Amino acid sequence: MIKVDTVVRKKWHSGFKRSVSPCILVVHGSAGPNPYKWVAEGDRLGNPRTDMYKKGIALWHYTINTTGETIEMIDPDKWVYHSSAGRADEQTIGVEMEHRDNGTTLFKDAQYLALYELIDFLMSQYPIYEIISHNKMKTRHRGKGKQCPGPGFDWDKVAEHVSEKGYSFQYTAEVISSIGKRAVV
Ligand SMILES: [Zn+2]
Repeated sequence: MIKVDTVVRKKWHSGFKRSVSPCILVVHGSAGPNPYKWVAEGDRLGNPRTDMYKKGIALWHYTINTTGETIEMIDPDKWVYHSSAGRADEQTIGVEMEHRDNGTTLFKDAQYLALYELIDFLMSQYPIYEIISHNKMKTRHRGKGKQCPGPGFDWDKVAEHVSEKGYSFQYTAEVISSIGKRAVV
């Protein structure tokens, strides 16, 4: 179940109008606990990024907490800057997986189940053809990556889910690309 929460979009930025449909899902891992609260209550918590949030920078669409709860913060019909890719983020949707150890230990099973549900939902709404780490997205656009979502994220699990859903794809480290419906034989 995806819980829609409008606090972030009302308080900081509601996102920019897209001129293209989103086709890339970027996976992030948070550097600390409760990323939703860190953004939504940023002014109260002393978050240094609140001026960026007002400009639609460093925000993202979905947070998946360690309990497996999914919160929609920004409408996926809109875009925000979240993956160090500049205007290329107009093609992306960002999902932040809560992590308390900077992505170094394993993410929770409940988080993968929530992510699968989110992937299925987004693929039913948009022409998503790629699921990629922030690390690889940043490398593509900036020539250098960052540890996000980190080694604790199991890409094989996500690839297996996409395969079970009947899609064909190409798969290299942290990138599931060219996702398409497999021909029925
Ligand atoms: Zn990230």
